[in-house]
Amino acid sequence: MIVVVLGPPGAGKGTQSDLLASELGLPHLSTGDLLREAIANRTPLGRLAQPYMDRGELVPDDVVIGLIKERLVQARPPDGAILDGFPRTVAQGHALNDMLGELGRRVDWVIYLRAPVEELLERITGRYVCPRCAATYHLRGSPSRTPGVCNLCGTPLQQRPDDRLDVARHRLDVYFEQTAPLIDFYRCQGVLTEIDGEQSIEAVLADEMAALPPNHRKD
Ligand code: AMP
Repeated sequence: MIVVVLGPPGAGKGTQSDLLASELGLPHLSTGDLLREAIANRTPLGRLAQPYMDRGELVPDDVVIGLIKERLVQARPPDGAILDGFPRTVAQGHALNDMLGELGRRVDWVIYLRAPVEELLERITGRYVCPRCAATYHLRGSPSRTPGVCNLCGTPLQQRPDDRLDVARHRLDVYFEQTAPLIDFYRCQGVLTEIDGEQSIEAVLADEMAALPPNHRKD
Protein backbone atom coordinates (compact mmCIF):
# COMPACT_ATOMS: atom_id res chain seq x y z
CA MET A 1 0.00 0.00 0.00
CA ILE A 2 1.26 3.48 -0.84
CA VAL A 3 0.18 5.96 1.83
CA VAL A 4 0.72 9.72 1.65
CA VAL A 5 0.63 11.70 4.89
CA LEU A 6 -0.31 15.27 4.04
CA GLY A 7 -0.69 18.33 6.23
CA PRO A 8 0.88 21.60 7.33
CA PRO A 9 4.19 21.75 9.22
CA GLY A 10 3.56 20.91 12.88
CA ALA A 11 0.45 18.77 12.19
CA GLY A 12 2.25 15.62 13.37
CA LYS A 13 3.11 14.02 10.01
CA GLY A 14 6.44 12.62 11.22
CA THR A 15 5.05 11.18 14.46
CA GLN A 16 2.00 9.65 12.77
CA SER A 17 4.06 8.28 9.87
CA ASP A 18 6.35 6.52 12.35
CA LEU A 19 3.38 4.98 14.16
CA LEU A 20 1.65 3.97 10.93
CA ALA A 21 4.88 2.48 9.61
CA SER A 22 5.03 0.10 12.56
CA GLU A 23 1.25 -0.61 12.57
CA LEU A 24 1.22 -1.40 8.86
CA GLY A 25 4.74 -2.84 8.52
CA LEU A 26 5.72 -0.34 5.82
CA PRO A 27 8.91 1.76 5.47
CA HIS A 28 8.61 5.45 6.43
CA LEU A 29 10.04 7.75 3.74
CA SER A 30 10.41 11.37 4.84
CA THR A 31 11.84 13.80 2.31
CA GLY A 32 12.57 16.26 5.16
CA ASP A 33 14.61 13.60 7.01
CA LEU A 34 16.43 12.55 3.81
CA LEU A 35 17.33 16.18 3.08
CA ARG A 36 18.47 16.85 6.67
CA GLU A 37 20.62 13.70 6.50
CA ALA A 38 22.17 14.97 3.24
CA ILE A 39 22.92 18.32 4.93
CA ALA A 40 24.48 16.61 7.96
CA ASN A 41 26.66 14.49 5.64
CA ARG A 42 27.61 17.57 3.57
CA THR A 43 26.67 15.87 0.30
CA PRO A 44 26.09 17.87 -2.92
CA LEU A 45 22.32 17.33 -2.41
CA GLY A 46 22.63 18.73 1.12
CA ARG A 47 24.52 21.80 -0.10
CA LEU A 48 21.86 22.41 -2.73
CA ALA A 49 18.92 21.95 -0.35
CA GLN A 50 20.17 23.79 2.72
CA PRO A 51 19.55 27.41 1.65
CA TYR A 52 15.95 26.60 0.68
CA MET A 53 15.31 24.75 3.93
CA ASP A 54 16.89 27.47 6.08
CA ARG A 55 14.57 30.02 4.46
CA GLY A 56 11.51 27.78 4.97
CA GLU A 57 11.03 27.38 1.23
CA LEU A 58 10.51 24.25 -0.82
CA VAL A 59 13.47 22.54 -2.40
CA PRO A 60 12.96 22.50 -6.22
CA ASP A 61 10.56 19.83 -7.50
CA ASP A 62 13.08 18.02 -9.73
CA VAL A 63 15.44 17.51 -6.76
CA VAL A 64 12.87 15.94 -4.42
CA ILE A 65 11.21 13.99 -7.25
CA GLY A 66 14.64 12.46 -8.05
CA LEU A 67 15.13 11.61 -4.39
CA ILE A 68 11.78 9.80 -4.12
CA LYS A 69 12.30 8.08 -7.46
CA GLU A 70 15.49 6.51 -6.07
CA ARG A 71 13.61 5.18 -3.05
CA LEU A 72 10.44 4.05 -4.83
CA VAL A 73 11.25 3.12 -8.42
CA GLN A 74 14.81 1.89 -7.94
CA ALA A 75 14.51 0.36 -4.45
CA ARG A 76 10.90 -0.88 -5.02
CA PRO A 77 9.86 -1.49 -1.40
CA PRO A 78 7.77 -4.66 -1.93
CA ASP A 79 4.85 -3.86 0.38
CA GLY A 80 4.68 -0.13 -0.34
CA ALA A 81 5.65 2.87 1.78
CA ILE A 82 4.43 5.71 3.97
CA LEU A 83 5.35 8.98 2.26
CA ASP A 84 5.80 11.81 4.75
CA GLY A 85 6.29 15.29 3.32
CA PHE A 86 6.07 14.18 -0.31
CA PRO A 87 4.35 15.29 -2.48
CA ARG A 88 4.31 18.94 -1.46
CA THR A 89 3.26 20.52 -4.76
CA VAL A 90 0.71 19.48 -7.39
CA ALA A 91 3.62 18.95 -9.83
CA GLN A 92 5.13 16.48 -7.34
CA GLY A 93 1.70 14.81 -7.04
CA HIS A 94 1.56 14.27 -10.81
CA ALA A 95 5.17 13.00 -10.83
CA LEU A 96 4.32 10.54 -8.05
CA ASN A 97 1.30 9.23 -9.97
CA ASP A 98 3.49 8.81 -13.06
CA MET A 99 6.27 6.95 -11.26
CA LEU A 100 3.80 4.68 -9.44
CA GLY A 101 1.99 4.09 -12.75
CA GLU A 102 5.25 2.76 -14.19
CA LEU A 103 5.33 0.23 -11.34
CA GLY A 104 1.67 -0.72 -11.82
CA ARG A 105 0.79 0.91 -8.50
CA ARG A 106 -1.12 3.95 -7.31
CA VAL A 107 -1.53 6.13 -4.26
CA ASP A 108 -3.91 4.00 -2.19
CA TRP A 109 -4.58 6.28 0.74
CA VAL A 110 -3.92 9.92 1.68
CA ILE A 111 -4.23 11.01 5.29
CA TYR A 112 -4.75 14.75 5.60
CA LEU A 113 -3.94 15.96 9.12
CA ARG A 114 -5.50 19.34 9.80
CA ALA A 115 -4.91 21.72 12.73
CA PRO A 116 -5.42 25.46 13.36
CA VAL A 117 -2.53 27.83 12.59
CA GLU A 118 -1.99 29.01 16.19
CA GLU A 119 -1.66 25.39 17.36
CA LEU A 120 0.75 24.64 14.51
CA LEU A 121 2.99 27.60 15.40
CA GLU A 122 3.00 26.58 19.05
CA ARG A 123 3.96 23.03 18.18
CA ILE A 124 6.69 24.00 15.72
CA THR A 125 8.38 26.66 17.82
CA GLY A 126 8.32 24.50 21.01
CA ARG A 127 10.06 21.56 19.33
CA TYR A 128 13.68 20.68 20.29
CA VAL A 129 15.84 17.80 19.09
CA CYS A 130 18.95 16.08 20.35
CA PRO A 131 21.69 16.46 17.70
CA ARG A 132 23.37 13.29 19.00
CA CYS A 133 20.61 10.66 19.39
CA ALA A 134 17.74 12.43 17.52
CA ALA A 135 15.35 12.24 20.51
CA THR A 136 12.66 14.93 20.19
CA TYR A 137 11.09 17.04 22.91
CA HIS A 138 8.45 19.73 23.18
CA LEU A 139 8.50 22.60 25.68
CA ARG A 140 4.79 22.04 26.45
CA GLY A 141 3.97 18.48 25.45
CA SER A 142 7.06 16.44 26.34
CA PRO A 143 9.76 18.58 28.00
CA SER A 144 13.14 17.11 28.88
CA ARG A 145 13.74 16.50 32.61
CA THR A 146 16.54 19.10 32.74
CA PRO A 147 15.58 22.06 30.52
CA GLY A 148 17.63 22.13 27.32
CA VAL A 149 19.37 18.76 27.92
CA CYS A 150 18.60 15.36 26.37
CA ASN A 151 17.18 12.81 28.87
CA LEU A 152 18.86 9.93 27.05
CA CYS A 153 22.42 11.11 26.41
CA GLY A 154 22.83 14.45 28.23
CA THR A 155 23.60 16.40 25.03
CA PRO A 156 22.40 20.05 24.82
CA LEU A 157 19.20 20.18 22.75
CA GLN A 158 18.87 22.26 19.59
CA GLN A 159 16.01 23.91 17.76
CA ARG A 160 15.80 23.13 14.03
CA PRO A 161 16.76 26.42 12.27
CA ASP A 162 13.48 26.29 10.32
CA ASP A 163 11.44 25.90 13.53
CA ARG A 164 12.18 29.53 14.59
CA LEU A 165 9.02 31.66 14.63
CA ASP A 166 9.81 33.81 11.57
CA VAL A 167 10.76 30.82 9.41
CA ALA A 168 7.85 28.75 10.76
CA ARG A 169 5.39 31.47 9.71
CA HIS A 170 6.91 31.48 6.23
CA ARG A 171 6.71 27.66 6.02
CA LEU A 172 3.00 27.89 6.80
CA ASP A 173 2.49 30.52 4.04
CA VAL A 174 4.36 28.26 1.63
CA TYR A 175 2.19 25.32 2.73
CA PHE A 176 -1.08 27.16 2.08
CA GLU A 177 0.09 28.45 -1.28
CA GLN A 178 1.88 25.40 -2.71
CA THR A 179 0.88 22.28 -0.77
CA ALA A 180 -2.75 22.80 0.25
CA PRO A 181 -3.98 22.45 -3.39
CA LEU A 182 -3.03 18.75 -3.05
CA ILE A 183 -6.01 18.30 -0.70
CA ASP A 184 -8.46 18.75 -3.60
CA PHE A 185 -6.10 16.90 -5.96
CA TYR A 186 -6.42 13.77 -3.81
CA ARG A 187 -10.04 14.38 -2.82
CA CYS A 188 -10.91 14.21 -6.55
CA GLN A 189 -9.03 10.91 -6.78
CA GLY A 190 -11.27 9.53 -3.99
CA VAL A 191 -8.39 8.53 -1.71
CA LEU A 192 -8.39 11.31 0.92
CA THR A 193 -9.21 10.81 4.62
CA GLU A 194 -9.34 14.01 6.67
CA ILE A 195 -8.30 13.64 10.33
CA ASP A 196 -8.44 16.13 13.21
CA GLY A 197 -4.73 16.52 13.99
CA GLU A 198 -5.38 18.64 17.08
CA GLN A 199 -6.24 15.54 19.13
CA SER A 200 -3.76 13.50 21.18
CA ILE A 201 -1.25 11.36 19.27
CA GLU A 202 -3.15 8.20 20.31
CA ALA A 203 -6.55 9.59 19.24
CA VAL A 204 -5.17 10.62 15.83
CA LEU A 205 -3.74 7.14 15.30
CA ALA A 206 -7.03 5.53 16.38
CA ASP A 207 -8.96 7.67 13.84
CA GLU A 208 -6.47 6.70 11.14
CA MET A 209 -6.73 2.98 11.87
CA ALA A 210 -10.54 3.25 11.87
CA ALA A 211 -10.37 4.86 8.41
CA LEU A 212 -7.93 2.33 6.91
CA PRO A 213 -9.20 1.38 3.43
CA PRO A 214 -11.17 -1.92 3.79
CA ASN A 215 -8.98 -3.99 1.44
CA HIS A 216 -5.92 -3.16 3.60
CA ARG A 217 -7.36 -4.08 7.02
CA LYS A 218 -5.55 -6.87 8.83
CA ASP A 219 -8.77 -8.50 10.24
P1 AMP B 1 9.72 18.63 6.89
O1 AMP B 1 10.70 17.93 7.77
O2 AMP B 1 8.81 17.69 6.15
O3 AMP B 1 8.97 19.71 7.62
O4 AMP B 1 10.57 19.36 5.73
C1 AMP B 1 11.54 20.34 6.06
C2 AMP B 1 11.93 21.11 4.81
O5 AMP B 1 12.46 20.21 3.83
C3 AMP B 1 10.79 21.82 4.09
O6 AMP B 1 10.50 23.08 4.68
C4 AMP B 1 11.39 21.97 2.69
O7 AMP B 1 12.36 22.98 2.65
C5 AMP B 1 12.12 20.64 2.52
N1 AMP B 1 11.24 19.62 1.91
C6 AMP B 1 10.81 18.46 2.49
N2 AMP B 1 10.03 17.77 1.65
C7 AMP B 1 9.94 18.51 0.51
C8 AMP B 1 9.26 18.36 -0.73
N3 AMP B 1 8.48 17.28 -0.97
N4 AMP B 1 9.39 19.32 -1.66
C9 AMP B 1 10.17 20.39 -1.45
N5 AMP B 1 10.83 20.62 -0.30
C10 AMP B 1 10.72 19.69 0.68
